[in-house]
Amino acid sequence: MKPTKFTYLALTLVFLIGGFFFLLKSNQAQQTAQVKKSNNTTIEHSKYEGVDIKSAISDEETFHSAIHYPIFQEEALNKKIEKSISKIHNNFREEVSIESKKHLKENPATLLVSFDIYEAADDVYSIVFSEESYVNGANGRAKTKIFLVDTKEGKFIKQHEIFTDDRKAGEKLYLLLNQQFKSSKDYRDYYFEDQLKERIKDNSNLENMYLTDKSMNYKFGKYEVTAGAAGMPEISIPLSKVQDLLAPQWKKRLKLQDNIKEDQSNPEAQNKKNENNKLSAQQEPTAPAPQSGKQVALTFDDGPHPQNTPAILNLLKKYDAKATFFMLGSRVDFYPDVAKQVAEQGHELGNHTWDHKDLTTLPAFEVQDEIKKTDYAIKKATGIPSSAYRPPYGAFNDQVKNSAGGTPVLWSVDTLDWKSKNPNEVLSIVKSNVGDNSIILMHDIHATTVEALDKVLQYLKSEGYHFVTVSEIQA
Ligand code: ZN
Repeated sequence: MKPTKFTYLALTLVFLIGGFFFLLKSNQAQQTAQVKKSNNTTIEHSKYEGVDIKSAISDEETFHSAIHYPIFQEEALNKKIEKSISKIHNNFREEVSIESKKHLKENPATLLVSFDIYEAADDVYSIVFSEESYVNGANGRAKTKIFLVDTKEGKFIKQHEIFTDDRKAGEKLYLLLNQQFKSSKDYRDYYFEDQLKERIKDNSNLENMYLTDKSMNYKFGKYEVTAGAAGMPEISIPLSKVQDLLAPQWKKRLKLQDNIKEDQSNPEAQNKKNENNKLSAQQEPTAPAPQSGKQVALTFDDGPHPQNTPAILNLLKKYDAKATFFMLGSRVDFYPDVAKQVAEQGHELGNHTWDHKDLTTLPAFEVQDEIKKTDYAIKKATGIPSSAYRPPYGAFNDQVKNSAGGTPVLWSVDTLDWKSKNPNEVLSIVKSNVGDNSIILMHDIHATTVEALDKVLQYLKSEGYHFVTVSEIQA
């Protein structure tokens, strides 16, 4: 089946150093034949033809920012998206500039821009941006911005073009949304009907709409139509319920004359399916016969990565080592074949959430969603469910434990590989901190970590360690 969705939020919060404005101007994206890297910007191919992904990450004393956005082959598309991204970034910088430096040094501001992409029809994509920022303490912001893109024509599609009569469509969509908000167990307690009505009056509700190949979806920013506890609410309406509103060419384009597929992209429907796959931090009984001597668990977070993860797998094979990979669901969805290789080579599969959010800042249902969606992606890609989870930043509380279904796996040796990007420093941290049953934290998204791993494996082997999964250590 053709995949319909991925979320990209790769290195999120693995902040590096470098200039950001400079990167936005750089424009060599779409011609690259392979992954390119310059300072803190990376460009990766996506599984969608003609769509690359650019990530710009910066880590300053007073703020951290991580911005991910798609690059198309048509310059006109890129210009508009980059303009929108620049605006977000400039606003953020402005907010940061008026804050007290002293305060920011203690509590740096953060900006995170990520996106989901959905293939709605041939050459039609929905790009759904989420912008989350945090400048001073309480006022976290979470907004969304949607682009509908026609890659064949190289242009954007305005939401109202999809309908025969956008006014009438607005009225009916309001009724459908209102009904769904009121009946959603996740949102009904936080929903503000008046605010939704208000948005519809000026017709701006259409801006929150995007299409998948099965549904018409709505995504709202935090506080727009619900209380903050509901996060950024998303509602999914099957195309069958709105097809009478669509302009004839869109009915055709979305292949609505044929049969309407069951909506599998609806996260709620997906969650129901996943309820049987309850995540457990317990280990599957796959451990080999116990060996004597010292053991360590090597763990790799934030992948999979199309080049570096396979390189790491090769090294592990060379040293006959087993490891644990705490993967991001968004990246598994993006690189299912790499995730499959990890599983096929007998390593343990760990859940590192969908897109690397701090779980302690989310309502319980979103924590569940982060974990379940990821577990579903891992199982879909590899055939095997994850058998451990590690919350991003090691951040958890009782609510996270209850919602994620168990005790998280943290680490005892932090190599800081993402920070130093220096194989010798990684080795020296391991040398001075490792002991029997250590759990070592690394990230399989950096090329320098591949280099470091060769040295680390060599050293640990010479010290008599053997390499097991985290579940074996904790058993
Ligand atoms: Zn991580």
